Amino acid sequence: MEQQRGDLLDISGLRVVFNTYAGQVKALNGVELWMNHGERLGVVGETGCGKSVTALSVMRLIEEPGEITSGALWFEGRNLAQLSENDLNSIRGKDIAMIFQEPVAALNPVMKVGAQIVENIECQRRSADAGQIPDKRAFSEIMRDMLGRVGLDWQRTENLYPHELSGGMAQRVMIAMALSSKPKLLIADEPTSALDVTIQAQILNLLNKLVRETQTAVLLITHAMGVAAQFCDFIAVMYAGNVVEYGSVQSIFRNPLHPYTKGLLNAVPKIGRTDELQSIPGIVPDLIDPPSGCRFHPRCPYRKPDCDTLEPTLRAAKTEPAADRHHVACFLYQNDA
Ligand code: SF4
Repeated sequence: MEQQRGDLLDISGLRVVFNTYAGQVKALNGVELWMNHGERLGVVGETGCGKSVTALSVMRLIEEPGEITSGALWFEGRNLAQLSENDLNSIRGKDIAMIFQEPVAALNPVMKVGAQIVENIECQRRSADAGQIPDKRAFSEIMRDMLGRVGLDWQRTENLYPHELSGGMAQRVMIAMALSSKPKLLIADEPTSALDVTIQAQILNLLNKLVRETQTAVLLITHAMGVAAQFCDFIAVMYAGNVVEYGSVQSIFRNPLHPYTKGLLNAVPKIGRTDELQSIPGIVPDLIDPPSGCRFHPRCPYRKPDCDTLEPTLRAAKTEPAADRHHVACFLYQNDA
């Protein structure tokens, strides 16, 4: 393998398709992104751009009719795309954990919350402590400690069923469960979009505090640029199955390069802003028959003559001042078209 670009995760040339009756959906078209231990990377873009498919690919949870057709998913030097189910099971939930948009749906409806967290800890420890008798009392202590750390009264919460939890409580339980195994990477797929705005802020602040304490890296999937700016160190902007721009939060917000990123930022309302919000003209393309060349070309106000035939790749951008890891996939900054 070439040198891994991030010492934790390096996704390279990832392609995923879904074979449906209507045709083959080319959901990911060579995704590139990477991150180091302890970093927080926000993946942003419109609905259907491939954010969640990227997250599920890292967990190797793409199910039929979907399949990973090519690319590599390097995690601490091991290619997740090529690991056996057994090897993957020793990483899933332990080294890489995930929280979902609908926390209640992700919990077992017929099992009390405390028992679910204990079962999860037991599962993660089974491979590490093979041959030893599981210490259920110690697991219960961890469960209670985690419920306390996410701000819940463990004495009450451990005996509740998922349907007895509010949305905010359920997401706290999911965070407790995910962090109980001390993962190196937490994938948070729109963790606050199903919650009220005030609860969203509480959950983000809580997540922020806990992952800083534990030095856990976070891959945050969100459609909100503001959430990514507040929470993350780096941002990857996705459009129609590609990462079109990648860089530090400061460089993306101060000096956006890709026309799509500029469009997204122009559409964000701000306090004190008096001009009209700008929408991006056109609609998200059909990924069964995506546009040729640059997938953004039908909506791009800056398109060049070859943009509809040649595909730009994600390359380091020369910016003034020089910015950490700023990459862009656009011919305005490359000389190929
Ligand atoms: Fe626009 Fe061409 Fe850049 Fe695509 S490659 S974003 S069409 S200028």
